Amino acid sequence: MAPARFSKSFTQQLPIPDEAIDAAVAVMRSGRLHRYNTLPGQPSETMELEREFARWQGQTFCLAVASGGQAMQIALRAAGVVPGDPVLTNGFTLAPVPGAIAAVGGRTILVEITGDLVIDLDDLAAKARASNARHLLLSHMRGHLCDMDRLMRIAADLDLTVIEDCAHTMGARWNGRLSGSFGIAGCFSTQTYKHMNSGEGGLLTSDDAEFMARATMLSGSYMMYERHGAGPAPEVYDQIRLDTPNMSARMDNLRAALLRPQLRMLHDSIDAWNARHDLIAERLARHDAIRLPSRPPAERYVGSSIQFLVPGITRDDAAALVARLADAGVEVKWFGAAQPVAFTSDHHSWRFVAAQSLPRTDAILSGLFDMRLPLTFDLDDCSLLADHIIDAVAALRIKENG
Ligand SMILES: *Cc1c(COP(=O)(O)O)cnc(C)c1O
Repeated sequence: MAPARFSKSFTQQLPIPDEAIDAAVAVMRSGRLHRYNTLPGQPSETMELEREFARWQGQTFCLAVASGGQAMQIALRAAGVVPGDPVLTNGFTLAPVPGAIAAVGGRTILVEITGDLVIDLDDLAAKARASNARHLLLSHMRGHLCDMDRLMRIAADLDLTVIEDCAHTMGARWNGRLSGSFGIAGCFSTQTYKHMNSGEGGLLTSDDAEFMARATMLSGSYMMYERHGAGPAPEVYDQIRLDTPNMSARMDNLRAALLRPQLRMLHDSIDAWNARHDLIAERLARHDAIRLPSRPPAERYVGSSIQFLVPGITRDDAAALVARLADAGVEVKWFGAAQPVAFTSDHHSWRFVAAQSLPRTDAILSGLFDMRLPLTFDLDDCSLLADHIIDAVAALRIKENG
């Protein structure tokens, strides 16, 4: 018997916590929404968020900005990328990642991924040598961390500055160390579909004072860089403040007020995501046509979405699988689709990047499926979702064998 139709929305997030709503209302009543609109001696919500997120990340500095994309653009510029520079990044990521490189005039060099959906470190080393690139914008796409110890050794050997895109790994760890704390900078998004929700928003962290002073000026601090919660000392700005352009990408107090209570809940949210993710992963792993990306013991992931592979699936079957699941109310994305859909596109659709051949990445993406797991789904919902996926994969095989 076919499982019951799934009826919940894949884009419905939890409501904003009451505590955050009250804090946001207080900001609105005060009229002081701009981050630098402070009363003497009183820190703004944005300053407090910077302080708290720096502490959460175990980093010295944190800068709150307008989006994750802006965090990456600012980080690339502050790390010294100038127009024409080659910048390495994963061949499998989301469009704002090569978009950030394009924004600073960089030349994107796409690196192959492995069957576990992480950057291929051999291809990275080869392309770093061939291009003489000095920067890697490493995307922990869909929450999968590569061997960060080996990656950082390669980066040191090849003199590569690493900027981490942690849009899907806020709270994830490699060997106990938080993603975003390996390279010169960690870039986080607080857009609605990520691990904290302020509609739009971004956070940039670093331990490098001069990098962060440049980033702060770039974000649009004018000469008010002392009104930051976790920024470098004022004298660090002496050398750079008149030379660094203002690119206006600040966070405001309203969004910061929404985020601070969510940060306090993040540990619980991570546990809730992983319970959902692991239930589905265990069920899918038992099916012999389905392969799950491996999760090494060193990786502590955040299962806010789940990926599964059906190796060798034909294009027609993949399209049929997605259609059958959609009919059952289950929204699964296929990364091998020829046309970009909603948030999903692959490197062939990024015409703002020079076309590059990535045969191994293409072969993996042709059998890769992805499903969001909003916390509005409970464990029974996840069990039903697993039933649907297994049912749909089994239907393909019956068709082929019969
Ligand atoms: C969402 C996302 C970003 C960018 O975040 P925005 O806040 O939407 O600009 C960057 N990288 C990945 C992998 C993302 O999914």
